[in-house]
Amino acid sequence: MTTHEQPLESVLETIGRTPLVRLQNSPAGVPVYAKLESFNPGASVKDRIGRYMLERMLERGDIDAGGTVVEPTAGNTGIGFAIAAEQLGLEAVFVVPERFSVEKQQLMSALGAQVINTPTADGMGGAIERAHDLADELENAVVPQQFSNPLNTEAHYETTAPEIYDALEGEVGAIVAGCGTAGTLMGLAEYAREQDPKTHIVAVEPDGSLYGSLVGDDREEANYKTEGIGTHDPATNDLFDPSLVDDIDAVADEDAHAELRRLAREEGHLVASSAGAASVAATRVAERIAAGDLETPHESVVTVFPDSSERYLSKGIYRSFEEWES
Ligand code: PMP
Repeated sequence: MTTHEQPLESVLETIGRTPLVRLQNSPAGVPVYAKLESFNPGASVKDRIGRYMLERMLERGDIDAGGTVVEPTAGNTGIGFAIAAEQLGLEAVFVVPERFSVEKQQLMSALGAQVINTPTADGMGGAIERAHDLADELENAVVPQQFSNPLNTEAHYETTAPEIYDALEGEVGAIVAGCGTAGTLMGLAEYAREQDPKTHIVAVEPDGSLYGSLVGDDREEANYKTEGIGTHDPATNDLFDPSLVDDIDAVADEDAHAELRRLAREEGHLVASSAGAASVAATRVAERIAAGDLETPHESVVTVFPDSSERYLSKGIYRSFEEWES
């Protein structure tokens, strides 16, 4: 795992094979493992879909070399697509709502992409609409649409999931992951259910997000600070399949924030808020297994830490909860 002992031809070959590390506060007998996606070259889980989706779209002829990728994105996806686009001979344009972190937007530009901002008030919906308008104006342009393209899920089914199962020799009891597009969780869940249909699958969202309303959970919409997961309009999250999920856990911003700070101080993980939320939820599942309240095929829990805290320092991610800006 993670060692790339042979010389590689391009940065694309460094994507994936990220470390899986046991969390040190796992309850006795039920290890929680976190997949550290900041080890990817663009420092997030989204490098995987950048490479996987663009390679498949070029193979299928959805776009030809020299064409333009236009994607609405909160940032990490833009970085992932920008790295892959550059290496695969494509141009990249990203439409980003203003509220998202400036670090991510600077990195997209550094990678040669064009960044267009849309007003925060128009939400992700506004960015999606603008991306389609732009693609319509260009020739040989495509909107990969990470929110609805099954290639997003497939990237995790083909890469993230087998890496986890190889590392643990198949002994996976539960999978717990944050849902933005839900591509990560759905890819893992599809693979897990094929290995053992009883694998316990938990989606994680911030308190105030509405994924839970899809399964009849009581949810009240509110703004949240946790970045990269959750939805205000589940109708636009086409990849999320409630039939693959046993539970949807809403984690309060305060808890995600306290946990990301604990992870840094006690475990040396420089991870952001979506990882904090995932860690809280994964630990809850492990505690239920340890207490005998939840039966799983194996006594282990796997989660994903999608990116690194360095990308959010300007928002005060390590300051007090009140000073942390959304
Ligand atoms: N955390 C962060 C920081 C992200 O950028 C994303 C992607 N939006 C996620 C978690 C969730 O990943 P997915 O889109 O695969 O659900």
